[in-house]
Amino acid sequence: MATAVSDRGGKQQLDSAAVVLDCREHGESDLIVTFFCRHHGRLTGIAKGARRSKKRFVNKLEIFTSLLIRHTIPQNRRLAFIAEAELLESFLKLRQDISCYTTANVIREFILLGTQEMEGDEELYPLLIWALTSLDSGRSPQAILTLFLIRFFTAIGYSPQLSHCLDCSQEVHQAETYTFHTAAGSIRCNSCTPGKPANTIPLSLGTLKSLTAAQDQPLDRLQRLQLSSHSKKEALSFLHHYGRQLFQREIVSWAFLDTISPV
Ligand SMILES: [Zn+2]
Repeated sequence: MATAVSDRGGKQQLDSAAVVLDCREHGESDLIVTFFCRHHGRLTGIAKGARRSKKRFVNKLEIFTSLLIRHTIPQNRRLAFIAEAELLESFLKLRQDISCYTTANVIREFILLGTQEMEGDEELYPLLIWALTSLDSGRSPQAILTLFLIRFFTAIGYSPQLSHCLDCSQEVHQAETYTFHTAAGSIRCNSCTPGKPANTIPLSLGTLKSLTAAQDQPLDRLQRLQLSSHSKKEALSFLHHYGRQLFQREIVSWAFLDTISPV
């Protein structure tokens, strides 16, 4: 758990590992910052005087930076108070590569869309750190986004069903072809649902096998999964459509991904 450290005007303060997801100016010298914390999930707080303070916050409250923050727990939908921040990792290489940065932005949008304030999640924080670290280490952004998203949907409770046909329950096999039905969140075999109904995405057997393996793999082994260019393209198309269906809105940052790093 996060460590309780002190009191600030009767309010308990905690130290939490956190990643900056959003940061905007407030008044003359404050910043309002949204973090994703290891134990509290999404947390929005005010860093008083942050734009003046050289010592407490300088260069730390940048989007994607990993920090140890000292903060209060927000009550009654108010903002947390961010007392100070210690830099853990700035992911510098990620910031210098436009396709890595754009991919990280898509990841950021999905986390903001799929989480609520102060709803802790033990799976999402390590997954976010895994994705940022992998992008920073120069792995294929398309592979990282594919692997991140398949695990993200599982973490938020909407794991797409990719191992057997929703109608006949048969496990995927070589003699059959499959489409993903976004509204049902599942694949169906083309014997059960011939043709190409609306809101379906074809998925090849190789892609289905790679994605189900990614759903089951421990996080520290996810890196070892190899995805062909064809699988990355198919999988990202399906994950994009699934995300739009789930959140009932466009994923705004995806448009930049398409422009800058075609799969
Ligand atoms: Zn079937």
